[in-house]
Amino acid sequence: MQKLVIASNNPGKLREFQFLLKPFGIEVLTQAQLGIEEAEEPHITFIENALAKARHVSRLSGLPALADDSGICVKALGGIPGVFSARYAGNDPKSDRRNNEKLLQVMSGVTDRSAHYYCVLVLLHHADDPQPLIAEGEWHGEIAHEERGDGGFGYDPLFWLPELGKMSAELSRDEKHAISHRGKALRVLLEKLKVM
Ligand code: IMP
Repeated sequence: MQKLVIASNNPGKLREFQFLLKPFGIEVLTQAQLGIEEAEEPHITFIENALAKARHVSRLSGLPALADDSGICVKALGGIPGVFSARYAGNDPKSDRRNNEKLLQVMSGVTDRSAHYYCVLVLLHHADDPQPLIAEGEWHGEIAHEERGDGGFGYDPLFWLPELGKMSAELSRDEKHAISHRGKALRVLLEKLKVM
């Protein structure tokens, strides 16, 4: 496989995939480069949304497509924001800053701050591929009481890692990918692809 389209317009995710896939000689294209609009994400599970995004992009590009559906799940909120992580504070427009503000507000007074990131990756060789490659990863931490750090994206300034004494947004790209949900899922996927 020489070319792969990433089925996302999220700049944070695109940066991470371009960085992570660079060593494997795969030419990574984005759906925006090909003029493909974002797919709807109408489903209530990450895997269904990932399949829908990958199929949409593979069908319109005629190329293999990789979709990531991911989010943060807060234990005390029963897994919310979950699949709604990107649009937790509204869809118009999606805003990491407003999502973080809303999460802090909803979590005020909550003592159990446990949360995890989840990522599922789906790789379709073509739009009608009956055997997609699927890989998952989780990353456990806590929701902090205030934001810190300017690395990463999304909820990273609020994602506290007690064993490191740092926020996710305070990690370097290499440090984040060694332990993150996306890094874990991608290593499983690359193993399945046998390119490692
Ligand atoms: P999706 O594009 O519908 O999969 O939404 C993913 C959303 O989950 C992002 O917009 C972020 O809000 C959140 N998210 C997923 N992975 C990360 C991460 O590595 N750091 C911070 N936020 C993340």
